[in-house]
Amino acid sequence: MSELTSVSLTAKNLHLSFGHNHVLRGIDLHVESGRTASVIGPSGSGKSTLLRVMNRLIEPDQGDILLDGRSILADNPNELRQRIGMVFQHFNLFPHKTAVENVALALRKLRKLSRDEARALALENLDRVGLKHKADARPGNLSGGQQQRVAIARALAMGPDIMFFDEATSALDPELVKGVLALMADLAQSGMTMVVVTHEMGFARNVSDTVTFMDEGVVVESGPPAQMFDAPTSPRLKQFLSDVL
Ligand code: ADP
Ligand code: MG
Repeated sequence: MSELTSVSLTAKNLHLSFGHNHVLRGIDLHVESGRTASVIGPSGSGKSTLLRVMNRLIEPDQGDILLDGRSILADNPNELRQRIGMVFQHFNLFPHKTAVENVALALRKLRKLSRDEARALALENLDRVGLKHKADARPGNLSGGQQQRVAIARALAMGPDIMFFDEATSALDPELVKGVLALMADLAQSGMTMVVVTHEMGFARNVSDTVTFMDEGVVVESGPPAQMFDAPTSPRLKQFLSDVL
């Protein structure tokens, strides 16, 4: 894969409430540059909200977010979001645009590349996810897994320093999950810093460097995958693992 600049990420004591719902209750998270952190936990525990706060789609009520040790809270949120690639459960491709146009769009709009430059960079990134041959296909003619790989190419094309994945495989048919997870594993291997919210315990265990278990807006337990899966200490993590494994 092409050259990467990756950064470390630190979240310190993040708090966020929606009205009276105190959703993040002092979250601490650290990912070393080039490492992958998986975030697991039951539905409603605040995982998606944490990602959205960390890329400043939502401002935290309290706490700090640092990239390579520097607070990003005073940065321009739009510029910041170009440094953080985000991949969602629903890929949100434009249905009337081809794969290459979907990837090129933000390059033209946000990075102000010319049409030709944007197309060349888009093709390079489609190639990176194994879909150069589908460049001119519209999303409706691609499988869900291929659509998600286009969405990943779209995020990578912006040259992010770090990637967030929010249940990137949850909407896919079971037979398509493997290909997307393999791509995410390749990306992790290539040295990209990644925060991966996932229900895929195989990925969390085998690909990530650390696993963080959240419940009810707090980090209940965090550590290397072997420790988290083979020797969980908190009753809540033990219960969660016995429910999902
Ligand atoms: P998870 O991703 O772990 O399933 P979420 O971060 O989506 O959890 O949600 C955590 C809590 O925050 C839930 O109680 C949810 O209802 C609430 N919540 C999430 N987004 C919003 C929002 N935009 N407005 C109000 N409440 C929200
Ligand atoms: Mg979620």
